[in-house]
Amino acid sequence: MKRALVTGGAGFIGSHLCERLIQEGFAVICMDNLITGDLKNLSRLKKSPQFEFLKKDASNPLKLKGRLDWVFHFASPASPIDYLELPIETMKAGSFAVYSTIELAKEKKASYFLASTSEVYGDPMVHPQKENYLGNVNPIGPRAVYDEAKRFAEAMTHAYHRYFQVPIRHIRIFNTYGPRMRLNDGRVVPNFVGQALKGEDITVFGNGSQTRSFCYVDDLVEGIIRLHRTEYFKPVNLGTPYEISILNFAKKIIELVGSRSKIVYQPLPEDDPKQRKPDIGLAKKLLKWEPKVGLDQGMSRTIEFFKMKIGVK
Ligand code: UDP
Repeated sequence: MKRALVTGGAGFIGSHLCERLIQEGFAVICMDNLITGDLKNLSRLKKSPQFEFLKKDASNPLKLKGRLDWVFHFASPASPIDYLELPIETMKAGSFAVYSTIELAKEKKASYFLASTSEVYGDPMVHPQKENYLGNVNPIGPRAVYDEAKRFAEAMTHAYHRYFQVPIRHIRIFNTYGPRMRLNDGRVVPNFVGQALKGEDITVFGNGSQTRSFCYVDDLVEGIIRLHRTEYFKPVNLGTPYEISILNFAKKIIELVGSRSKIVYQPLPEDDPKQRKPDIGLAKKLLKWEPKVGLDQGMSRTIEFFKMKIGVK
């Protein structure tokens, strides 16, 4: 049986990936230091004989007994509020943790899968963003701890590929949502849904004209699984090209929840990207992949999850 290490496996995307890898027949070692991950996300997995959990910080040197075929490095704080509260941990997840996990992959002759981000494109001057766009990142702004660490992570991963022939796969994840997002992680999906469910004001930052493109987590995981089966090592955007302004997104959530919440405006955070939308032409061609779950359908499932969390009927 193939054996995979998933760092950040108790996180939002990581836990969905662990479940899917088990379905694909892998033995999975889930590593997480639980600073933003949650053991509750593993409740379905705990009983599986194919599953093992290690509470560990991936930024320290790693030793592991037994065979290892894949390392999926998904550990990182991943919301703007997390980066502000955990700036050094965020930088370490994209740097020291990449070094220790890719060293482990090299030692075990395993393949390495890097979860990078659309944030490497910064506040993009090119729209939509293609993989060959080099980005517009402020290296000293509040988001830099995430953006620059991920850029370092990309450079490191490709260096190991180039100099040590470690087989790599490399994705750039655009805004992803779904069940198991943290209610208080400060991102727009949990914020708006939480506010709408509780009848609180919906906090649109700036005038809400900034755009994002939201991909449902199952679609993302399908893309990850398809890519790991190829031998393509360059970056691949995974996300949905359906772009929506944050103001319209707020209106949509109010409608889907059937809420009486009002929209209020708050200052736009520093370096908040004005627009973001992936060009997924490469993923379509290479992986025959495109997102299947529409925003209304995916958001309805996500709203059900948050209803359970909050205890709203
Ligand atoms: N946003 C907002 N209200 C909130 C939280 C976020 O208007 O309560 C905006 C934020 O300014 C950004 C977009 O929603 O333009 C997406 O923010 P998020 O933190 O989810 O992720 P980002 O894509 O910026 O990393």
